[in-house]
Amino acid sequence: MDISLNIKELHELLVKKEITPLELTKAVIEACKKDTNNAFEYIAEKEAIEFASNLKEPTDDLLWGIPFVCKDNFSSKDIPTTGSSNILKGYVPIFDATVIEKLKKKGAVLIGKTTLDELAMGGSGMTGHLGRTYNPYDLTHERKVGGSSCGSAAICAAGYVPFSIGSDTGDSVRKPASLAGLVGFKPSWGRISRYGLFPFATSLDHVAYFSRNVFDSAVILETLAGRDDKDSTSSNKEIDKYTAYCDTPINGSKIAVIKEIYDSISDKDIIKKFDDVCNALKGKGIIVEFVHMDEKLLRALFPVYFVISCSEATSNNSNLDGIKFGPRYEGDSYSDVMMKARTNGFGELIKRRFVVGSYSLLRENQDELFVRAQKIRHLVADKVNMILNDYDGIFVPAAPSVAPKFDDSSDQISNEYLIADNHLVIGNFAGLPSMTLPIGFKDNLPFGANIMCKAYDEKEVFKLGSAIESVTGLKDIYAGGKR
Ligand code: GLN
Repeated sequence: MDISLNIKELHELLVKKEITPLELTKAVIEACKKDTNNAFEYIAEKEAIEFASNLKEPTDDLLWGIPFVCKDNFSSKDIPTTGSSNILKGYVPIFDATVIEKLKKKGAVLIGKTTLDELAMGGSGMTGHLGRTYNPYDLTHERKVGGSSCGSAAICAAGYVPFSIGSDTGDSVRKPASLAGLVGFKPSWGRISRYGLFPFATSLDHVAYFSRNVFDSAVILETLAGRDDKDSTSSNKEIDKYTAYCDTPINGSKIAVIKEIYDSISDKDIIKKFDDVCNALKGKGIIVEFVHMDEKLLRALFPVYFVISCSEATSNNSNLDGIKFGPRYEGDSYSDVMMKARTNGFGELIKRRFVVGSYSLLRENQDELFVRAQKIRHLVADKVNMILNDYDGIFVPAAPSVAPKFDDSSDQISNEYLIADNHLVIGNFAGLPSMTLPIGFKDNLPFGANIMCKAYDEKEVFKLGSAIESVTGLKDIYAGGKR
């Protein structure tokens, strides 16, 4: 059985009863058990088989019987959920996150929970309590798949499931999508309920996901989008039939390329491929033009993100006190118990971020750090919204390179790092729908570009995204099996 088919193809086999959800689930579980990318926190074998056994009569819903995996920072009923952190070891939630509940209702089969950078902080796929997650495109296991949604990226890119759920606070789905040859999509802030997603930085957090083509991405949004009374920040805005916008005419559309982001990338092969794609889009009647953004503002993206996200993370994670969830340590007082749990439970990166967060929130530092960062965030959002008043989308290379090696270190004050490696956070600052999709290969490793549109205009992303997909021809690709 070919488990690497996309959602639509699997659906056709399922409705024709050429395969059953149970057979498919078993085949996917076998593949996942053999996986060597260290991508799972938990394979839900028993639970998935039981769920799939109850799927008897096909519905016309495209997700019926379709296997998926979910990042382990989403609450899953009766299934251990760790956030890849020792502080939550042994925690078994009593409810499903809204996204899991919605997918289950459609008959999609949860195969397992995937690794992440601890508590979704980080981008290397190295900081979870199980260690490194590997890029399936590199069998020597020397390269990152990126993070923080590393496990979900690896399993989708390996070709075991046609889609996987992640979360994106700075770029945690859209960056690994570039390194793993996937379509990674984050809709507008508030479009998908975050009920049951462990909060990292609430003003920046989004539910996001991976698929292997743009149409499948639209299928998933149709299921996940919409108001949820359990998440007061979820939007009441009307949702669309997103699949209807894939492969629609795009001539006359206007796309902006931010010149300073483009210029911050030194890899000539990536730029060449990106230029080719822009030229092909022009050939389809799309207007593609350079626009400008203040380089100083772009160099401020990462520091501003860091101050805001660490501050919010420090506050959000204060509930992890070693009393309510996870292992309990003996101690003389509440603060003693808490100190032991947090000292033992959190890894280095988390502790460092809490120091930055606490420092930024200190009364005497707030104006200088937290409030100032908020102001700069707004300048960035205003600027991109202005660009989007004149253009239908902003298109830029998603990352400066193909998947880096684990021991790669970059110059952290270069434009290559500050801008090329961190610009995707603009989508989180402004809450805009943003999609990374593959545009090329270098040394057998994929790389991607990103398209971002106006808030709540997801249909435009699918329109432009499918146009880009049609010019690159990179659709339904996976490691070891470019089709
Ligand atoms: N890489 C970013 C960070 O280090 C983004 C994380 C995310 O989006 N969850 O925080």
